[in-house]
Amino acid sequence: MAIWNLGSINIDHIYRLDHLPDAGETISAQEVTQGLGGKGANQSVATARAGAQTCHLGAMGTGDQWVIDRLAASGICTGNILRLDRTATGHAIILLDAQGENSIIIHPGANRMLTKAALQSCFDRIKPQDSLLIQNETNCQVEAAKAAKRVGARVIYSAAPFEIGPLRAIMPHADILAMNAGEAAQLFAEIPGDLPVEGLLITLGGEGAEYRDLRTGQTYRQPAFPVRAVDTTGAGDTFAGYFAAALDRGDTIPDALRLAAGAAALQVTRYGASDAIPMLEEVVGFLA
Ligand code: ADP
Repeated sequence: MAIWNLGSINIDHIYRLDHLPDAGETISAQEVTQGLGGKGANQSVATARAGAQTCHLGAMGTGDQWVIDRLAASGICTGNILRLDRTATGHAIILLDAQGENSIIIHPGANRMLTKAALQSCFDRIKPQDSLLIQNETNCQVEAAKAAKRVGARVIYSAAPFEIGPLRAIMPHADILAMNAGEAAQLFAEIPGDLPVEGLLITLGGEGAEYRDLRTGQTYRQPAFPVRAVDTTGAGDTFAGYFAAALDRGDTIPDALRLAAGAAALQVTRYGASDAIPMLEEVVGFLA
């Protein structure tokens, strides 16, 4: 079983501040660091560190080899990441305050330059027992999801950042929809009726997460583990990636929720997005 992840790759520029700036305010950063981020890269690192065979589908500029090296070091297959000439690798400016709250600006760059033609040979290799992860930070998600559904693979769609157009287009081709509480509120405001998916995963920050099985009507709840959070960037991606990897290896929904909550709890105790995602052994130790 493999996990294919069509997803964004961003270089994160992280500015640590006393407080987030108000409009018109200029403040000095206490520290600036660079890290690997992007919802796609974060989720691939999470699935790989959770032990799943992970193949990332995405695009970058031609430089920034350290990004590829870091993905590969987590055990991710990087052979299908396109390197585009005269195109910037996606990047994010992340402002982080002393409480761990953040504000983020994203420049998608290469992430939005993917074409179906370039990805088709990968889509053709998706097998029935595989999973496909998609988010809202690339293009070609509908094509990917259709290809995965055609062979019966599981499609998990993190509908973030929230955009109603892509959501409406992609959701009919997904099995599980994953989002945080804010995104879920926007979804229910836009689409009050039935959703065309079998499951809805909603993460609730420090409150934990829930999974609604929309076929049976059953809701599974998982409280968050009490930890001291310093940086929640990528917490939802860590949760989604671990949850997907757990389903991939055959875990039940409650077991998958517990594993994902353990991984996300550890992740928020560290600075960074991808770089803060724990290995499976650490999560198992934490949960023991
Ligand atoms: P997102 O990063 O997408 O906004 P959430 O904020 O809902 O997602 O966080 C995702 C998951 O991370 C939560 O479901 C929870 O398991 C974990 N998490 C987030 N904040 C905390 C916290 N303060 N303490 C423990 N776990 C947390």
